[in-house]
Amino acid sequence: MRRIGIIGGGAAGIAAAVTAARNDRQAKVFILEQKDRIGRKILATGNGRCNLTNCQIGSSCVESCYRGENLAAVDEVLRQFGYKETWRFFESLGLVMKTRGDYVYPRSDQAASVLELLNLELKRLGAEVHCGVHVQSVIREGKAFGIRAERSFHADRVILACGGKAASALGSDGSGYPLAKTFGHSIAPVVPALVQLRVKAHPFAKASGVRTDARVTALIDGVPAAEDTGELQITAYGISGIPVFQISRHIALGLYQKKRAEVELDLLPEYTEEELTGLLAKITANRTELTIGECLAGIFNQKLIPRILEQAKVRIQTRVSELSRHKLKDIADRCKKIRLTIQDTNGFENAQVCAGGVRMDEVDPRTMESRKRKGIYLAGELLDADGICGGYNLHWAWATGCIAGKAAVKDFR
Ligand SMILES: Cc1cc2nc3c(=O)[nH]c(=O)nc-3n(C[C@H](O)[C@H](O)[C@H](O)COP(=O)(O)OP(=O)(O)OC[C@H]3O[C@@H](n4cnc5c(N)ncnc54)[C@H](O)[C@@H]3O)c2cc1C
Repeated sequence: MRRIGIIGGGAAGIAAAVTAARNDRQAKVFILEQKDRIGRKILATGNGRCNLTNCQIGSSCVESCYRGENLAAVDEVLRQFGYKETWRFFESLGLVMKTRGDYVYPRSDQAASVLELLNLELKRLGAEVHCGVHVQSVIREGKAFGIRAERSFHADRVILACGGKAASALGSDGSGYPLAKTFGHSIAPVVPALVQLRVKAHPFAKASGVRTDARVTALIDGVPAAEDTGELQITAYGISGIPVFQISRHIALGLYQKKRAEVELDLLPEYTEEELTGLLAKITANRTELTIGECLAGIFNQKLIPRILEQAKVRIQTRVSELSRHKLKDIADRCKKIRLTIQDTNGFENAQVCAGGVRMDEVDPRTMESRKRKGIYLAGELLDADGICGGYNLHWAWATGCIAGKAAVKDFR
């Protein structure tokens, strides 16, 4: 009997097990998971609603939505397994889905529905799930493999789907990297991504709790590396929110490379500097008895105003009659160019994913088989590919898991 051993019961490992078992009903397919149950991270995704894929995924989304050293290989995976394939996979499990914009969710709005259907399918197919099993090593045994954990397992094909090391409370603790290294794989630097940023001498700490639309630009050694616009959240330690998450991997990589990492905030991206100076001139004209602080109340959250004026070195009580057009321009410039020095990310524990991982050059993107060792396959976040927010990371896990599962059993024929 052919034995397919899958290490890691996350999105990628479960998708691999379902696909392997469906494609070869005679095979013994088993998942080894170190936690007490499989799919714990799936339950936490999308704030418990599981944003499982995105309608943009298919051909030609890779440059804008994924990052990694070898995007051509990532693209090859996504061309084979785009959002339609993920949709079909879940439809085949009986999941009814819905879209919000391009984001795809279960109709129930519950990640638990997704995991329940995956578990039912594993059971129906007779795939084995062994929980509480921490795999320490995988070794070659002739044409097969020995898997060393609390007890030993044997498999003809092994799929490494151990995840990265983001959110280790949910399972993935980085133990997949040394397993991959034993087969000669190299690892692109692993840093937290989709994560909050900690600001040095945070000038906006007192505005903690404020949410405001902003453009957020990552600057590495002063050079723009990425930008995103959306709802910025100011926290006591730094900045958060979707636009911060989207640029965070660039900052994390810059910090890892010991470069200067800064973020520039534009608090009014819908206006040019000139338009904003004009707007300030308009709202201060004929209101000369008011202070600049009072005049800004119609534009910004109250908690932001003293902080912005501090940056512009203007006292909040200054009467607008005392402010020249030149000073108003200065305030406008400040609103659009607030530089924050980033001292750190909020760490792997708080990151949604990892950037970096096993280099995609070392994996055949048509099968996810290792180019270093025949019979070993790799899937999911363990690999060097990370997506932006919006269902791209789960998609990568399902896609690579399904491709690896299918190829691992086909390989025998
Ligand atoms: C809070 C949060 C919200 C998220 N929301 C979304 C979202 O809405 N949409 C989206 O696309 N992405 C989201 N993500 C990212 C997405 O969940 C992950 O990219 C994806 O789940 C990775 O799947 P994986 O199977 O590769 O790894 P994981 O889900 O991390 O699974 C790896 C599994 O392997 C097990 N394991 C590791 N090492 C061993 C070992 N040595 N022996 C045995 N078992 C081992 C771990 O315990 C774990 O269960 C979110 C992530 C987080 C943390």
